[in-house]
Amino acid sequence: MTNIRLLSLEELKTILKENGQQAFRAKQIYQWIWQHGVGQFEEMTNLSKDLRQWLHSRFTIPQITQDTAQYSSDGTIKIRFKLHDGHLIESVLIPVEKDERYTLCVSTQVGCSLSCAFCATGKMDMKRNLTPGEIVDQLTLVNKICQEKYNHPITNIVYMGMGEPLLNYKNVLQSINIISSENGHNMSPRRLTISTAGIAKMIKRLADDSPRVNLALSLHAADDFKRNQIMPINEKNNLEVLMEALHYYSTKGKGHLTFEYIMLRHLNDSIEDANRLAALCRGFRVKVNIIEYNPIGDGLFDKANIEKVDQFASHLTKKGVLVTVRRSRGGDIDAACGQLANKD
Ligand code: SF4
Repeated sequence: MTNIRLLSLEELKTILKENGQQAFRAKQIYQWIWQHGVGQFEEMTNLSKDLRQWLHSRFTIPQITQDTAQYSSDGTIKIRFKLHDGHLIESVLIPVEKDERYTLCVSTQVGCSLSCAFCATGKMDMKRNLTPGEIVDQLTLVNKICQEKYNHPITNIVYMGMGEPLLNYKNVLQSINIISSENGHNMSPRRLTISTAGIAKMIKRLADDSPRVNLALSLHAADDFKRNQIMPINEKNNLEVLMEALHYYSTKGKGHLTFEYIMLRHLNDSIEDANRLAALCRGFRVKVNIIEYNPIGDGLFDKANIEKVDQFASHLTKKGVLVTVRRSRGGDIDAACGQLANKD
């Protein structure tokens, strides 16, 4: 039995033709799977009974299922999903009702291999990559929750949950294609942001393959010495190499570029750090998001105090950097940045 959701529309057409079925049915099946999120061929009511039975005898449609949902006092919702093999992953819905902005943060791997020191996911073992279907399912299922709770569809997706998206490149790219396809979710790639810890060669590849998606670099330190301490990936992808890849992305790509910067007390919160960060921003159209740190219970880091954050941000602004300070969302349910670890 083949997982039908691993097939592209073209592959599905070919298989149907080879088996004496009409090729145009492929589009209908594709729409049932990706637009309507059905899990049974029986539900594909515009197909003949024979075709539904034929599909049933050859293919499966494995889907993820909701395990738990936790609701934060600030409106954020964290949903835990169970995969067909029992693994658990998490997604987070972050509503900003006044702006009609409903952002979904999706996971791309079960666990993560990159071990960033401030991140709860990085302390889990990396089990496996998610399939394109398992990534898109998070959108399909949370979209229903968003409609029920906020009477609004999801407007933006950030690939910023569990895992490093650029280490599951092929599946992430396929999920982008499905989400942006008119036969899928028909969302503009401009509403999608890939967040990476910084893998230079894959950033360049993304610029070639999907130039319209936005890119967020989890920078978190503006010199190699500090970045090596908190993000081991920096040892093989240092700032010089990364900046070169980002220049490539910004000349080739049409999406927005953001530097994410978690403020850690006494580590990266000084005015010298701000000067180094401003220097890295030179020559790019880039926005800096300063993110409040969310402790993960290991006592290693503290959040920077609020005055320091404000001084840091206004120093950057004086230097001509576009900067936003993001207060933490969903911290009371462990749904904030860096906190996803399948905890109850
Ligand atoms: S911050 Fe991202 S890349 Fe780093 S360990 Fe956490 S999930 Fe992995």
